[in-house]
Amino acid sequence: MDQAIVTIFLALFAVQFAVEFGLNELNLRYVAASVHTKAVPELFRGKIDSQSYQRSIDYTLTNGRFHRWSEVYSSAILLIVLFSGLIGLVDRWSAQLASSVSLGSYGQGIIFCFAIGLIITLTALPTELYATFAIEAKFGFNKTTLGIFLSDKLKGLFLSALLGVPFLFVVLWLMDIMGWSWWLWAFVFVSAFQLLMIVIFPTFIAPWFNKFEPLKEGELRERILALADQVGFKTSGIFSMDGSRRSAHSNAYFTGIGKAKRIVLFDTLIEQMTTTEGLAVLAHEMGHYKLKHIRRMLLVQAAFLFGGLYVLSLLVAYPPFFAAFGLDPSNHGALVLFSLVSGPFTFYLAPVMNRLSRQHEYEADRFAAKTLHDGKPMEQALVNLTVKNLSNLTPHPWYSAYHYSHPTAVERIDAIRHLPA
Ligand SMILES: [Zn+2]
Repeated sequence: MDQAIVTIFLALFAVQFAVEFGLNELNLRYVAASVHTKAVPELFRGKIDSQSYQRSIDYTLTNGRFHRWSEVYSSAILLIVLFSGLIGLVDRWSAQLASSVSLGSYGQGIIFCFAIGLIITLTALPTELYATFAIEAKFGFNKTTLGIFLSDKLKGLFLSALLGVPFLFVVLWLMDIMGWSWWLWAFVFVSAFQLLMIVIFPTFIAPWFNKFEPLKEGELRERILALADQVGFKTSGIFSMDGSRRSAHSNAYFTGIGKAKRIVLFDTLIEQMTTTEGLAVLAHEMGHYKLKHIRRMLLVQAAFLFGGLYVLSLLVAYPPFFAAFGLDPSNHGALVLFSLVSGPFTFYLAPVMNRLSRQHEYEADRFAAKTLHDGKPMEQALVNLTVKNLSNLTPHPWYSAYHYSHPTAVERIDAIRHLPA
């Protein structure tokens, strides 16, 4: 049976690799072909100069070519962790360490989960460093120093210990004492934990990494306050963030639920945009709030979590699952194995989620256009964002359907133009 499990996993792993690698190749060829045709998409003609257009193509190709190798590298790392005997070794080593400092089986489980997590994180560092300090720097986007990069990593590590240790402790405890129904209890606990994170993230965690300030006095602020009033959004939740500390990319986002909800505009976005464009972006973010997009996403994620935990509850009680990867059966072993091997079984859910997310973007654009009684400001904001961020104007349709959480600017502008008056 062990051998059959390994075979099924490897077959599906190969499918996932082929799909993702193949889509990247397809996209590279598609974009490279547009260099020869020199055809700026019609909606962008006269809005983007040929130099910026060429740069956006170069940026896309550079990223895509790098992705080719990073995909091979990360796949190789995962296979090594799963099949070299490393995972069993780390498990035995965790047991020794836990018993030498008189920690019980939960302690062993927590050490094991962190050790595997650390291996994955450390092996991902070279690709992250290259993407940040070579590619982003080459195109003038990177503002991060090695100091900021390392301090971000250390803060992340500290945070995952602070939150991860109690989280894992409760999950392992539920698995231990609740009998067959542990996964239902775990579902309740993990859902509650996620809600808590959504509430505390904007106010307690994000400020560790960035400075958040109320918007500066001025025309933009005045008009935003009026808009927030009109829409019924509490204005105490609108902030600007020092995104320029790390990157020249510009962005805006809406996060949180209940009293903790916030709209965050990057300082880079505020600098790059006219007041009218900034206001349109804000109206779009308020659209996400008014149309309850976060709540909808959470419900879908909860359904996935429910299904995932149920499958995990079957696997925990199935010894061949452990034997296939050279591990002794244990609750912590099941948690880690499940998270390492689930990718090839769930990767086709990503395009489903992205599709839902793209639908939300269209709805928020429509909301912005309706609220401002004019689609033009949103269109201009999209053009501006796309040009400044060197976003790919012409991805291969399959590639964007799979990977993009936002429709392309061309698709969004087209949708805004076709809104019923
Ligand atoms: Zn949006």
